[in-house]
Amino acid sequence: MRTLLLYLSENKRLAPFIMRNSMSRRMAQRFVAGETLDDAVKAARELNRAKLSASLDMLGENVADEAGARRAAENYLRMFDRIAVEKLEANISLKLTQLGLDLSEGLCEELVESIAARAMSYGSFLRIDMEGSAHTQRTLDITKRVRAKFAGVGTVIQAYLYRSEQDIQDLIRVGCRIRLCKGAYKEPPEIAFPRKQDVDANFVKLMKLLLPSGIYHGIATHDPAMIQATKEFAREKKIASDQFEFQMLYGIRTDLQRRLVREGYRMRVYIPFGTEWFPYFMRRLAERPANLLFFIRNFFSGSGGEA
Ligand SMILES: Cc1cc2nc3c(=O)[nH]c(=O)nc-3n(C[C@H](O)[C@H](O)[C@H](O)COP(=O)(O)OP(=O)(O)OC[C@H]3O[C@@H](n4cnc5c(N)ncnc54)[C@H](O)[C@@H]3O)c2cc1C
Repeated sequence: MRTLLLYLSENKRLAPFIMRNSMSRRMAQRFVAGETLDDAVKAARELNRAKLSASLDMLGENVADEAGARRAAENYLRMFDRIAVEKLEANISLKLTQLGLDLSEGLCEELVESIAARAMSYGSFLRIDMEGSAHTQRTLDITKRVRAKFAGVGTVIQAYLYRSEQDIQDLIRVGCRIRLCKGAYKEPPEIAFPRKQDVDANFVKLMKLLLPSGIYHGIATHDPAMIQATKEFAREKKIASDQFEFQMLYGIRTDLQRRLVREGYRMRVYIPFGTEWFPYFMRRLAERPANLLFFIRNFFSGSGGEA
């Protein structure tokens, strides 16, 4: 089922059908802060009040043309300006296919550089999300090249990929901040661990490489076992709780997010917003059977109405 949902998440014909459905839209609201930057700012402000920081993500991936990539870049520049004006404790996460990675690597890199320069002008930070494996190497290459000019740039490593240990060693060598996550895309067993317990074991192994590196990394998971392993390792190695941060997604395990802050850990919440929520929503459904069952029950019960 996970494989099917991840396959469907890339289906451009299904997207309008699901997105028109009012029940889908209501359910997506659990994971997406709203359609506008104002909505995302409001969500970030509320989190900041509760001592959680944020990373804003304007939804959208795989743009069709250069104009779309340039528009996305303009929006990211404005987002950094707005974060500064609002004095938010927030940075930005973006996907390279939204900046035209599949159209032209040169164009994409030029746009990332302009956004990284803006981030740096505010002393802020730009996180480059990791997409499917067709983009892994190019994402790492661009991150390293842009980082060499603007230090406030980092990326994401997915524990399900066999290559990740090597990638982490390479990135640590150049001082790059890393967000460690399990990985959200459909990958074949030739390149990724197919079994959850192996992904989890690799996550813990990679976390143990990151934490003692002296670089400020993000441990992005809602999994209590991964969180417990991180806390125990940090305690054992005497790594202070302000030397790394936990990260979670907007709308998922908010109880745990706040509990960790009460315990003295740093927590950053990834806040997606915008109208292009379909692939992001499908990936969240794929992660948890209960979400999917709820969705299917309501979608076919007629409560969705206008589909
Ligand atoms: C801040 C952040 C940034 C991310 N960035 C990327 C990225 O750049 N590239 C990428 O490939 N992936 C990214 N991911 C997604 C990640 O790879 C996983 O797919 C996702 O976090 C689920 O894995 P998990 O570690 O929470 O563990 P899981 O084992 O999947 O889940 C553990 C528990 O968390 C809860 N949970 C997890 N997912 C959901 C959900 N959708 N709905 C409700 N409850 C849920 C459930 O209680 C579940 O039992 C990111 C995740 C986070 C938190």
